[in-house]
Amino acid sequence: MRHTPLLLALPLALALAACGRDDAASDAAVLPDAQAAHAFSADITADDFDELVKTLASDEFGGRAPGTDGEEKTVEYIRAQFERIGLQPGGDNDGWYQTVPMIETTADPSTVLKLTTGAGARDLAFGDDMVIGTRTGQTDVNVADSELVFVGYGVDAPEQNWNDYAGLDVTGKTVVILVNDPGFHAQDATLFGGERMTYYGRWTYKFEEAARKGAAAALIIHDTPGASYGWDVVKNSWSGAQFDLRAEDDPEPRLPAQGWITGEVATQLFADAGLDLNEQIKAANTRGFKPVPLEATVSFDLKSTIAEKSSRNVVGILPGTETPDEAVLYLAHWDHLGTHEGDGEDLIYNGAIDNATGVAGIIEIAEKFATTEPKPKRSLVFLAVTLEESGLLGSKYYVAQPSIDLARTVGVINLDAMSVAGPSRDFVVTGLGNSEMEDILKTFADAQNRSLVEESNPAGGFYFRSDHFNFVKAGVPALYAKGGNDLVDGGAAAGQAAIDDYAKRYHQPSDEYNPDWNLEGVVQDLEALYGVGRVLVDDTTRWPNWYEGNAFKATRDAQRAEAGGAP
Ligand SMILES: [Zn+2]
Repeated sequence: MRHTPLLLALPLALALAACGRDDAASDAAVLPDAQAAHAFSADITADDFDELVKTLASDEFGGRAPGTDGEEKTVEYIRAQFERIGLQPGGDNDGWYQTVPMIETTADPSTVLKLTTGAGARDLAFGDDMVIGTRTGQTDVNVADSELVFVGYGVDAPEQNWNDYAGLDVTGKTVVILVNDPGFHAQDATLFGGERMTYYGRWTYKFEEAARKGAAAALIIHDTPGASYGWDVVKNSWSGAQFDLRAEDDPEPRLPAQGWITGEVATQLFADAGLDLNEQIKAANTRGFKPVPLEATVSFDLKSTIAEKSSRNVVGILPGTETPDEAVLYLAHWDHLGTHEGDGEDLIYNGAIDNATGVAGIIEIAEKFATTEPKPKRSLVFLAVTLEESGLLGSKYYVAQPSIDLARTVGVINLDAMSVAGPSRDFVVTGLGNSEMEDILKTFADAQNRSLVEESNPAGGFYFRSDHFNFVKAGVPALYAKGGNDLVDGGAAAGQAAIDDYAKRYHQPSDEYNPDWNLEGVVQDLEALYGVGRVLVDDTTRWPNWYEGNAFKATRDAQRAEAGGAP
């Protein structure tokens, strides 16, 4: 078990609710001393940002895992900040919280996948060789002698004239799938997005597609460049409790079982069938690829413990003075990976950069809106969501149950893992070239003498890996921009060093608060992102859309037309 069970920390909640700002002595008894001691400025400042991150990423918050005491502390802290700033509650029943019902599924780590190939039978161990789980809510999923078939990238994209499932009935079978998409592995700019990962490259899409096709199970082959992260990240993310929305809150199809296998396991599996994995990848990169039976079967008895629980989004609203039913929404996930059990010295996954920085960012932006004249004409929603690390579930739930109608949500700005490397000459827009919100951002970037650039690893598919993407799928334009690669101090080399350093800390206990961070850059980012929202809440005629040709434009146009408004 990775997470400690949820204990309803009622005494703590009541104590916090009773605390006033002038009651510093009793504040100190239940909150980190610093919150009571720190005097927040109305402006966006490095000092305030530092204070917020330091608290949220402290060991006391235990790595902010949903369903733990760390959740209680985190959502209370965010609520207290929203209240201090003067926002209004925007959650359920006029409260600050939006309850996100979920099911928690913990796969038995002694589960083995029994592979039978021409070379004999062998057991794949959970964690070292593979990870597997179910989203069905069933405690026992039994798959016996399911034929393995290699389906390339597992993509069915009519508009790309590409179908990896062509001519295949996968009923009862287990599909084996490459991560990413053909353009990436072929290094071919004419295929899909070329090096830039498309939505078809995301593992979430692959499982959804395999479920639509009726497969019994799906296994993705890990490779570090393709996934953009190592096996450790897969292993950590899939070990212990997994959270899902309840099936009734999630219209997407679900597989009986889904997981990943290591590259080593895949290489051997293919070799046992007389196939060379690299040759098969080449074949899968080619239009007209046909699925390949792997002359092997897999059997497993996946036992899981299931618990119904809930976590919470925190929702604060600053009502608009003219069109309060229209809103700009700022978003950041508060959750991280919690505290793990084991022999290591530091097993608290503090998640300082990911994503105490983003939560601190929306609090700082909220405070500036709340204290700056004139009052915004449109509303602002500040949304701190849960369960990002568990499949973007808090944002998915909000999109299903929004506080302000999505058709009247003008745009979404997401803050996730801000850059603490110092000011830069560029400004990274993840998924550059998507929406007209970028045009507004550009005016503020220009004023900071920064140029908008795409992310340094467009193959990572990061536009599909954070919470704004649930809004994107629902049509709402979203901006995800932060930091830069060309640092004022040290240039591109220093920028790359900062990227490399964070890559080592990503989803590790070493993602910790550091008092030596240079926060000048993050303050610039927040000022610019505040600026984008400022333009959109002051000008009630403005509706930024997706750029022409964007896959999500039709959804937005229909949604806006239905709401009777301008596109
Ligand atoms: Zn994050």
